[in-house]
Amino acid sequence: MRKTLYIIGLSTLVFSCTSQKNIKKTTYRPKTVTSQPKSVTKTDSVEKPKPKITNEHGVEFFTTNIADATKNDNTISYGSIVSAKPAGYKVVKTHFPAIAQNFRQKYLILHYTVLPDDKSVEVLTQQSVSAHYLVNNLGDNEIYQLVDENKRSYHAGVSAWRSDKNLNDTSIGIEIVNMGYTADATGAKIFQPFSDEQVKKVAALAKDIVTRYQIPATNVLAHSDIAPTRKQDPGPLFPWKKLYDEYQIGMWYDEAAKQTLLTTAQTDISTRYNEPAFIFLAQTALQKFGYDIQPSGKWDDVTKKTIEALQYHFRPQNYDGIMDAETWAILQALNQKYSK
Ligand SMILES: [Zn+2]
Repeated sequence: MRKTLYIIGLSTLVFSCTSQKNIKKTTYRPKTVTSQPKSVTKTDSVEKPKPKITNEHGVEFFTTNIADATKNDNTISYGSIVSAKPAGYKVVKTHFPAIAQNFRQKYLILHYTVLPDDKSVEVLTQQSVSAHYLVNNLGDNEIYQLVDENKRSYHAGVSAWRSDKNLNDTSIGIEIVNMGYTADATGAKIFQPFSDEQVKKVAALAKDIVTRYQIPATNVLAHSDIAPTRKQDPGPLFPWKKLYDEYQIGMWYDEAAKQTLLTTAQTDISTRYNEPAFIFLAQTALQKFGYDIQPSGKWDDVTKKTIEALQYHFRPQNYDGIMDAETWAILQALNQKYSK
């Protein structure tokens, strides 16, 4: 009976969107329509299975993907069902699920806390910043969830990547307990390493998240990638290449492509480095890859910090913010592989 009702419902909706006559029919004679289902069923609608719902600890979930799986977006996942409970009415969740839906979670953003374990918990739960998950540095097997994945956490701040801005709206944030960096006598940043246990936890957690939400490799990013003028985290010691090689998470360039590009890159850097046309070209390549940068033709502070962010992620041996030949070759190799 419920399946029949679902089919009638879809038919009624289609009719109501396309025919004034049927709007009147459904408006004034709803009972007549529901009492004669067979004629409606024959003329319209593809029969669809009714989604099942489970209840775990008082929270309901669809047990299967109810969205259109043929669409190339992140419709594979399914989450908790949050719905209204209007007084005196029953909200029906399973009869009329729309296939035109997906998840808001398009990005996975990694951070470090610059705080020890206890302070990280305190600040991320009691102050104006938060993250969905916190990976401690205690060597245990726990990962703390601080915010429901369906809700926003406040981890990204003013941020942008490609055409998206304010990534708190569309991302899952993971904070990793790490003390960040200290400056040495020359002002150079000296970063703290991540423990193997932390990296394994982050990898397992990230794998689970990107798989469920079908988050593309181009959207697994550092805080420094989406806010390069403000942020350095998780810094050059976070092992992005290990995540790519061992867990197939995120982006990495093809070494052969980089080597091929290196000769021309060396020529560019040695002969054109200060030409506005070359600087503009390099800035355009950074922008094309995803960074929020406006080409100016000058090696300005924003450009330097953006190059530094690129180096933190993809050339961590030297993160001086200078576009050297290797950085230039890597950027071009990344664009060959991941351009929009
Ligand atoms: Zn951060």
